[in-house]
Amino acid sequence: MNNKIYYLKCENEVMKLLDTSSKGLTSEEAHKRLIENGKNVIDTGKKKSSIIKFLSQFNDMMIIILFIAAIISGIIAIFHNEPLTDSIVILAIVIINAVMGFVQELKADKSIESLQKLSTPTVKVRRDNKIKRINIENVVVGDIIILEAGDYVPADARVIISSSLSVDESSLTGESITVDKNNKKLNDDVNISEISNMVFTGTAIAYGHGEAVVVETGMSTILGNIAKSITDEKKLETPLQLKIKEISKIISVIVGIVIVIMFNVGVIKGNDLVETLMLSISLAVAAIPEGLPAVITITLSLGMNILANKKAIIRKMNSVETLGSTQIICSDKTGTITQNKMTVKSICCGNKIVNEIKSKHFINAMGLCNDVIKDDDYIGDPTEIAIYKYLENNNINLVELKNKYERINELPFDSNRKMMSTIHYVDGKKTIYTKGSLDSVLYNCKSIEINNKKVLLTDEHIKEIKNIEYIEAEKALRLIAFAYKTIDNDNDDEDELTFLGIIGMIDPPRQLVKESIEECYRAGVTPIMITGDSLNTAISIAKEVGIISDKNEAIEGKALDKYSDEELVELVKHYRVYARVSPEHKLRIVKAWQSNSKIVAMTGDGVNDAPAIKAANIGIGMGITGTDVSKNVSDVILADDCFNTIVSAIKEGRRIYDNIRNVILYLLTGNIVEVLLVFIAMLNGVELLLPIQLLYINLITDSIPAIALAFEKGDKNIMNRDVRDANKPFFTPFMISRLLISSVIKTISIFGIYLYGKNIYNIEIATSMVFLGLIITEMLFALSCKNIKKNIINKHIFDNSKLNISLFLLIIMQIALFVTPIRNIFRINSLSLTNLIEVLIPCLILFILNEVSKKTITKSFKD
Ligand code: ADP
Ligand code: MG
Repeated sequence: MNNKIYYLKCENEVMKLLDTSSKGLTSEEAHKRLIENGKNVIDTGKKKSSIIKFLSQFNDMMIIILFIAAIISGIIAIFHNEPLTDSIVILAIVIINAVMGFVQELKADKSIESLQKLSTPTVKVRRDNKIKRINIENVVVGDIIILEAGDYVPADARVIISSSLSVDESSLTGESITVDKNNKKLNDDVNISEISNMVFTGTAIAYGHGEAVVVETGMSTILGNIAKSITDEKKLETPLQLKIKEISKIISVIVGIVIVIMFNVGVIKGNDLVETLMLSISLAVAAIPEGLPAVITITLSLGMNILANKKAIIRKMNSVETLGSTQIICSDKTGTITQNKMTVKSICCGNKIVNEIKSKHFINAMGLCNDVIKDDDYIGDPTEIAIYKYLENNNINLVELKNKYERINELPFDSNRKMMSTIHYVDGKKTIYTKGSLDSVLYNCKSIEINNKKVLLTDEHIKEIKNIEYIEAEKALRLIAFAYKTIDNDNDDEDELTFLGIIGMIDPPRQLVKESIEECYRAGVTPIMITGDSLNTAISIAKEVGIISDKNEAIEGKALDKYSDEELVELVKHYRVYARVSPEHKLRIVKAWQSNSKIVAMTGDGVNDAPAIKAANIGIGMGITGTDVSKNVSDVILADDCFNTIVSAIKEGRRIYDNIRNVILYLLTGNIVEVLLVFIAMLNGVELLLPIQLLYINLITDSIPAIALAFEKGDKNIMNRDVRDANKPFFTPFMISRLLISSVIKTISIFGIYLYGKNIYNIEIATSMVFLGLIITEMLFALSCKNIKKNIINKHIFDNSKLNISLFLLIIMQIALFVTPIRNIFRINSLSLTNLIEVLIPCLILFILNEVSKKTITKSFKD
């Protein structure tokens, strides 16, 4: 990490020292170095070890209560000189559950890790004298890296070429003002913050571009050295997970109180102490939804995988939940709604539409003010690629042109200025070529080139040009204007330019965007288009894809400047298209919608988009065209940059949320039934369900179908209903009534089975019938929870293969449990086939009743 040897030397010496050149390393050499020095990764060393992960499964109130239960029942058994079966079974079930949880968590972590791999940044390097894009992990010392605005610096490197290169080093120094970088060697020792000819890992390029030679990688970088003291980010729990935790806590407290009361009443009444204790334990076990937290985590991580397959990479688990309640989608136009595959369709030279460009400066401007690199393919900005291809098709040799007029300086593009310029010597004269949006370029022009002659730009010319703009934009063409000037003094500002002309490019909408937009409107989601492009072009595209039908729903960014943030809150409701916006406008639009209590998704690709992406409830980064900085602050990354993916992700989010609701209803109903049964039995002085039996139901027969419910395909009308209000409580009147009604009828039927069994047979048979009955109702209820609002007795009843498999598995398990000697462990009596039928009939009737009543409950209670 001794940077002195690099910043005190000139760049050629540094390259020599590192045995490399401005052409880069060869692939073989790079490979060799990678093996020698290892991957370029920062290891924070703070990863939880597997043992800690396993132990943390036991760091749960519920599990602790169960442990205490096991110990108490163990002590009781020892006092009574009985075998320790109960304690052992409780412990075994708890441990099996912990192992299951541990395995699932590992799996979830693995899949999250591999998802994150999908979004690891890449960097452009020179190797074998060609430009290649490689994963930042594979960067080695001596690599020549190419840096552009929005990139993260992947390694510590000495700058060799800088074109207005400016870096945000706040992650390293805390200083938020960006620092300019050049390649000039320093003469004295300085602080890190003053090393103006080096860039450091983890900092971000804010502006301009350049090249640098890597001097340190991985843990040898400055960041690597700091990393040893960096604590890794805390794992955030989703709002839903927090709610569940809250519910668990409340249940635990209630159970605790009930147990204390019961115990005291028992003691006062002079009941058997041991029996009272066992009853209290039963109650505790019955009440706690042991499997719930694990099931929810699994459901969410499964959802993340499914979303990844649909090209939406989730970076924060919270977003899976939030996605489903998205109300506003603010989307970029270029590349997200359109294809970003542009073709030049029209040319305007000076103030006239022409078929062919005859102006030398116009051709120079198109060819020279252009960063496209043609290798095996075209690398660069799609707008520039279109221009490049147009020139190629007109037989202009661009390599020759670029060599003839070498670039001596440049002012890179940025989305605020909406222009870029390059400076060259043309025929011995220093010349600046500018291209950009028509308004910006025209604003800076003093003259115009007409028929290869420079004349003063008059209002008449401007009117003609604006007229052409209007006609072209109506055709949804994206317009880029060109201008130039020769510089006699040192004034290389983009002003007093000579207007050359405009080219119009078509960038057609992506396939099926129109359908997605229709789907949005049906689903109560408002699509909004935000673009740096011109108003008329934006309106044409927006009309084409169905975002708006009237041009009054579109507005220009600069019009927003007149309004205060408060006024904007009302104003945003009227517009669906924003044109010529700058990144600051995006932030204001997000905030205004949020002040209307809306859940907003916002896309972005540039460095300057980061604040808006961060502020949005769902920040969306672009997998293909997005800068590293914008991706890093986003919650979701679109692997294909496509608008449709946002809509399908929202759909998926809704499905996942529905499934979680189904699962919670399923598990909690089970718990309530158990508590009621134990309680009623207690009042009647019978021991109905043993702790081990309850545990078996809660952790095994309930958990397995609960996980399978996560695979439910979802209601086909999921995108035809309005957005769920994210602020609405989880337990709506509908949920509460569903929960209570289901559990009360279930309890009554099962207690009915008990009374029947007791009268016809004996208590032993009756309690076993109750255990069996409870298992069967739970299995049928799992089917019922495929959809908590609609009758599931139809042709789709067995469409969830995972659920079918899990139910089949459960049937096999119950046969083993009831028919083999295992039943002795669970204190089950041998039941006859008649008993089975006697249990099955009321369970089936109950199931059918439950389905039939769904419609009425859904209608009667608000959700
Ligand atoms: P968007 O991605 O929403 O179309 P941008 O901010 O990328 O918006 O571009 C805004 C405007 O800047 C474009 O309409 C165009 O006029 C101009 N522009 C875009 N790319 C370039 C470029 N590479 N060079 C010069 N001007 C550009
Ligand atoms: Mg753009």
